[in-house]
Amino acid sequence: MPNAFFIDVSRCTACRGCQVACKEWHGLPAVQTKQKGTHQNPPDLTPYNYKVVRFRERIMNNDREHVVWNFFPDQCRHCTDAPCQSAADDYVEGAILQDEDTGAVIYTDLTKKLSVEAFEEVLDACPYNIPRRDAKTGAVVKCDMCIDRVRSGLLPMCVATCPTGTMNFGDREDMIQLAHERLAIVKKQFPNAQIVDEDSVNVIYLITDAPEFYADDVMAAAKPAPAPLTRKEFFAKLARPLGAMKLNV
Ligand code: SF4
Ligand code: SF4
Repeated sequence: MPNAFFIDVSRCTACRGCQVACKEWHGLPAVQTKQKGTHQNPPDLTPYNYKVVRFRERIMNNDREHVVWNFFPDQCRHCTDAPCQSAADDYVEGAILQDEDTGAVIYTDLTKKLSVEAFEEVLDACPYNIPRRDAKTGAVVKCDMCIDRVRSGLLPMCVATCPTGTMNFGDREDMIQLAHERLAIVKKQFPNAQIVDEDSVNVIYLITDAPEFYADDVMAAAKPAPAPLTRKEFFAKLARPLGAMKLNV
């Protein structure tokens, strides 16, 4: 049975322990950042930050006495039918795989063979703006569900580190059940509370406010159907995997 995260943001204090633990486990170096007047740091995901705790502050109903802080520990959703994988397969088959046992969407070393243009298509396919490309190595990277830990019976590092019960991990059905139990409780205090994109992801968020009050791309936007390919575009797309293979030899 696939695994899932349940991320209950009603419990998050934005301590950023999960963000730091992720970097530590993956051996990712520090990045130069700038303080931009917000608690959020770094400002966005980078090739060396697979996880970032996003932070939005807002004044409710023009009442300056009533300020709300919304925290959102952002990461790859490990989509059940990952659009990034389909996009990458057009260029380098096997660059992105989905592990059947856990449901983890894994970026392999073959992502280094994706061109900048191909990476842009992978990023564009992701409804949550997650993958990042390391300009030095060419690798495309993101959260890997700590697959090495999970296969050894351990929790992902962010879950093991979280001190508040925000981060949960286990069998997908158990996580969905837990999400709905928490929703029933949280809704009493936050009537706008909702579970995000439950059917299409293995990282299930419970948020207490409308998605736009957390960050961009919290929820997958309904993307318009793509325009049909012209004859020229169709044959160009058909030729791409062959081109990529030639480059690989
Ligand atoms: S969230 Fe984005 S990067 Fe992660 S599996 Fe889904 S499409 Fe791929
Ligand atoms: S460790 Fe837990 S409480 Fe701290 S920022 Fe991450 S999810 Fe929030």
